[in-house]
Amino acid sequence: MIHVKVEKEYGQETINKLRSLNLIDNKYRISSDDNYVYIPVTGKTDHYETVERDALPASRIEPERVSFSYDIIGSIAIIKRKSVEEATYLAGFLKARKNIKTVYLDRGIEGEFRTRNLTLLYGEPAYRTVYHENGIRMNVDVSRVYFSPRLASERLRIAKEVKDGENITDMFAGIGPFSLLIAKNKKCNIVAIDKNPDAIELLNENIKLNRLTGTIDTITGDSGTLLSQYSGMDRIIMNLPHDSINFLHTAMEATGTGGIINYYEICDLDTLESRMEEFREYGLEIIYKRIVHGFSKYQHMYSIELKK
Ligand code: SAM
Repeated sequence: MIHVKVEKEYGQETINKLRSLNLIDNKYRISSDDNYVYIPVTGKTDHYETVERDALPASRIEPERVSFSYDIIGSIAIIKRKSVEEATYLAGFLKARKNIKTVYLDRGIEGEFRTRNLTLLYGEPAYRTVYHENGIRMNVDVSRVYFSPRLASERLRIAKEVKDGENITDMFAGIGPFSLLIAKNKKCNIVAIDKNPDAIELLNENIKLNRLTGTIDTITGDSGTLLSQYSGMDRIIMNLPHDSINFLHTAMEATGTGGIINYYEICDLDTLESRMEEFREYGLEIIYKRIVHGFSKYQHMYSIELKK
């Protein structure tokens, strides 16, 4: 039986990624030893180390073993499905979870503010909740702003990379999960920009909710225009994964020599390769590229670190 083998530290994150891609073979059990988690998969995957290993059959169908992807944001669960009937059926598996008060169907992320089109499936019709991530507390309104818990490990990785004293621009900050985590742990100065006034309102609340070591200045507006006021930045975070490429030149101009651009894009492998070419043509050094999570059968969200 083919298993994806990952270090324990990345076990849950990898299970979530594989589940979102429908690659887990739910007929068998996920197992582990002292160092690794072994996840039975339906076939070879290009992006993970796989090993042949005996597998025990799953003893019974448990909610976690019914393969469907959902996000939990505070007391709210969000399921993505095309059919309302199917989503309503799946929401039934989440009723047993005491911490979930509301289940919504996500019919797609829309518009330039990247907000979700939500339909209530079960529970209290509430959009506002409090979400805890990596020691940060955030007020979220799942209907008015974009927020995805799937980037938690990515945000932690970036926060660990940042050095005290950095001047940072978070170009598409949303409610501030990158900015808040960095400013909580590092003595740096962050300018957090978002076009959605609701996102900046929540980010301002979230700044007050957390004890920060660094500073965050918030601005409502278009990063494409506002960034021309900045130069010599040590780091720019570009989390607009369907459209970041259109802001790359603006970001490059605001970055100091030797500065870092944390670039995110959702794309297939061909587009990724042509992007790498583009980055080299612009004289950017590619420090790393890695998958953050699966998006569709052929597309992934990539995290690419570029040095000017
Ligand atoms: N970084 C946040 C996070 O990780 O949760 C939010 C990322 S979300 C994918 C992209 C954000 O960019 C949205 O909050 C949206 O309102 C904002 N946005 C879209 N176009 C923008 C622009 N031209 N200037 C500033 N913000 C923009």
